[in-house]
Amino acid sequence: MKIICIGRNYAAHAAELNNPIPETPLLFLKPDTAVLKDSKPFYHPDFSKDIHHEIEIVLKISKNGKSIAPEFAHKYYEMATLGIDFTARDLQADLKSKGHPWEISKAFDNSAVLGEFVPFSSLKSDDGHIDFKLLNNKICVQHGNSSQMLTGFDALISYASRFFTLQAGDLIFSGTPAGVAQVKINDILEGFVGDKKLLHCEIR
Ligand code: ZN
Repeated sequence: MKIICIGRNYAAHAAELNNPIPETPLLFLKPDTAVLKDSKPFYHPDFSKDIHHEIEIVLKISKNGKSIAPEFAHKYYEMATLGIDFTARDLQADLKSKGHPWEISKAFDNSAVLGEFVPFSSLKSDDGHIDFKLLNNKICVQHGNSSQMLTGFDALISYASRFFTLQAGDLIFSGTPAGVAQVKINDILEGFVGDKKLLHCEIR
């Protein structure tokens, strides 16, 4: 199982980190050892002093496919949830400044938090979009809507499958809206779609 993530898929988030909007989707991978699920706590690693939360809509790939056309991409996922793409922003900034790959800042153990998977269709509000938010200690810190995605779900799956054969069980982290910020020990992160809570993660 692999985890495919997209960077800078919301314009306001790209702007808050002073990054340009990419011309094509910006993909990176996390290994399966990055998964943290079942509401288990996240133990703050000692290699970073600036771990950021990034709340994202996560799709679970339901069947194998390669070079999937955009119009067929919706057949390749049924279940979805919210996830957190934990990022060691200090390590990432240092590696980026040197032009090095920044894998260790994104793909470390427990950096891919998963909420409870539910049918993708059940997440949509009446307008067909998914409205989601992240609370930290009961305060809303990130609020996103899938209508703001620069590359939508189906185009993202189509693009990724040109490079990586998608396999049942693979996960797609679809990018984070603005509001990313540092987490601290004892923070309680909660992810909601509408009024439904899908994700709970405490920082220890
Ligand atoms: Zn992310």
